[in-house]
Amino acid sequence: MIDLKDFEYEELVQYLLSIGEKKFRAEQIFSWLHKGAQSYEEMTNLSKATRERLSKETYVSTLKIREKYVSKIDGTVKYLFELPDGNCIESVVMRYHHGLTICISSQVGCRMGCRFCASTIGGLYRNLTAGEILNQVIFAQKDIGERISNIVMMGIGEPLDNFDNVIKFLHNVNHEKGLNIGYRHISLSTCGVVPGIYNLAEEMLPITLTISLHAPNDTIRDTIMPVNHKYNISKLLEACKFYAEKTGRRISFEYSLIHGVNDSMDNAKELAKLIKNLHSHVNLIPVNKVEERDFHKGSNDEIRAFRDKLETLGINATIRRELGADISASCGQLRKKVL
Ligand code: SAH
Repeated sequence: MIDLKDFEYEELVQYLLSIGEKKFRAEQIFSWLHKGAQSYEEMTNLSKATRERLSKETYVSTLKIREKYVSKIDGTVKYLFELPDGNCIESVVMRYHHGLTICISSQVGCRMGCRFCASTIGGLYRNLTAGEILNQVIFAQKDIGERISNIVMMGIGEPLDNFDNVIKFLHNVNHEKGLNIGYRHISLSTCGVVPGIYNLAEEMLPITLTISLHAPNDTIRDTIMPVNHKYNISKLLEACKFYAEKTGRRISFEYSLIHGVNDSMDNAKELAKLIKNLHSHVNLIPVNKVEERDFHKGSNDEIRAFRDKLETLGINATIRRELGADISASCGQLRKKVL
């Protein structure tokens, strides 16, 4: 059976023509799917014959809300969604002054092995389909009843390890007949899959590329991020430079501050030197505690001192505000609990 959300718009048109439907049906169906219709019965402007024809080899995919938590502190909403095969993924909706931002997953599990991350502990189970990635946005928006205006691909999984489905999803979520979320309102975060960065640059989508750097040199990065053995920092930064030049977009770096590992003043100096020639921004994230891991964050003073050091050295840096602290809102924590 075919999930119509796995088709790009043009593919949907072609498919409909191939089963003897009129071209204008694509617009109607695409729109219903993106509004969160859960069956062809709901698509009231389709004829009964069309609905029956569609049901022969396609279906409307859905996501079940298995658990939902709303933070009492800041209104952050965390979903544990159940996929049709029983696997679970997480999505988080955060409220900012500029609107609702959803953090979505791209895979069930992850094979990248970052030492501080909860999502990778059981390894990779499977890739999400384009439709499953999109359904997180569709069904969270439907549940909340407010428009989601921004997307960050920072949930479970490595998006560049599921490249084709992620690109298809990006095209669809941006489509004017669907949710119509602007590329400039979308960020994709990667641990540093270098060939994927070059391929993404070739797609020429003006999304924000976020790099999980987390270390100012290869010695430290090797110990916390296995991907660095394959693509070291100099290869990674070369790819970033290519991406920035090709797309004209500023690169964003994520740097999780882990006490005693990467958060000394020397580390700050080294980091500033490393990226000073790139037009970039650094997001500092006090590391989140993961039960299985023995990593801790420093004091607020130490975290601010690290930021100030970078600023003094001419690097744009901000400290990530912690949202949803009362509902295990950081990625991978909820799914792991259920497993
Ligand atoms: N695979 C992608 C996206 C998912 S992770 C990537 O690596 O970028 C989203 C971000 O959260 C990444 O920057 C990741 O390194 C970071 N992260 C994972 N576990 C964390 C933890 N315990 N504390 C702080 N940040 C963490």
